[in-house]
Amino acid sequence: MAKINKNYNNLPQTYLFSEIAKKTKAFQEKNPGVSLMRLGVGNTTEPIPSTIIKGFITGVEKLGNVDTYTGYGDEQGDTRLRVALSAWYQTQGITLDPTEIFISDGAKPDSANIQSIFGTDSIIAVQDPVYPVYQDSAIIAGHKIVYMPCTEENGFIPSPPNEKVDIVYLCSPNNPTGVVMTKKQLKAFVDYAIENKAVIIFDAAYAEYISDPTLPKSIYEIEGAKKCAIEINSFSKWAGFTGVRLGWTVVPMDLVIEGTEGGKINNLWSRRQSTMFNGASNISTEGALSVLSDSGQKESKKLIAYYMNNAKIIKENLSKLGFKVFGGEHAPYIWLKTPNNLGSWEFFDKLLKEAHVVVTPGSGFGAQGEGYVRLSAFGDKKDVKKGMKSIEENLKP
Ligand code: PLP
Repeated sequence: MAKINKNYNNLPQTYLFSEIAKKTKAFQEKNPGVSLMRLGVGNTTEPIPSTIIKGFITGVEKLGNVDTYTGYGDEQGDTRLRVALSAWYQTQGITLDPTEIFISDGAKPDSANIQSIFGTDSIIAVQDPVYPVYQDSAIIAGHKIVYMPCTEENGFIPSPPNEKVDIVYLCSPNNPTGVVMTKKQLKAFVDYAIENKAVIIFDAAYAEYISDPTLPKSIYEIEGAKKCAIEINSFSKWAGFTGVRLGWTVVPMDLVIEGTEGGKINNLWSRRQSTMFNGASNISTEGALSVLSDSGQKESKKLIAYYMNNAKIIKENLSKLGFKVFGGEHAPYIWLKTPNNLGSWEFFDKLLKEAHVVVTPGSGFGAQGEGYVRLSAFGDKKDVKKGMKSIEENLKP
């Protein structure tokens, strides 16, 4: 007799973004003439730069010619892209062999799937508030979860857990708080992981939004990290691949945990991908190779600068209005403390009704997110400015 996985019953009852869509739709139906400004969504909106588009076109054209046609590729990814990413890491002073880099269809699936190579009884630590997939995938697999609070008091940067855990998820620059960990703060986690034989899963999906060279873009900038950390990254927010789909995961040969030797974890992930993944799209791969070209990198920087200018507009305007705002300097997210101790959803409703601005309630990212909302810098500059003006003119004190 088939049975459901009862762990699904332990997930938060509503998916955050469906609830936002429901409330927004209800408001829109009652107020059909009102045009809403959506400043909460973490989805890219600007077109992909021309060099990268040419890459995709190359990929498509190759498929139309019998001499260049390719079907299934290696489950671990196209060797050219693994080599190119290895060279890209090298420009940052990080040496990784291409066999340590696995190409995938994105950081979100990898960040959940990676759990399957570790013991089913692993205790998993996550930041609170947190990008929901780490927590929800751990709940689905039935893991015990330890929460690392990220509050105004600690600058939204967690400390390593007081207890012994097996897997620690870290996201920097952070979604939803928009803050970035320093090398010293990351080093504390690397030391913890080595001491406790734990593994860090480091989500660097927003690394290219860091403009301060002293802040770490990769966990491998920290001494000892190759012994204890897996890094996940993506072209989604770097070059607008949210709908295209392409990411990668680094599993260093030096990574060891209890009872394993170097190379074993790398081998397990390779085995997992061979078994359950059929390789990333060959068209996306050609696009990703173009992102890594000189002109692709230059054009992607401009794309990021566009979003970060939106972040600046949001942060400056909200600060001017007296709101307490965090993040938004090296990440496309602004974390706003709600005024007058309003709950996240209460302030969501108020912004929607009075200013016609849609944000993301912080409580949807975890208990510590209560009393905050997330604003996103993805969107058209004109809409962002319109949203700010509307908050200034229409939000009642
Ligand atoms: N990691 C973080 C922290 C994110 O915020 C997101 C998307 O919002 C992702 C990963 C998703 O990456 P991908 O599109 O490569 O699956």
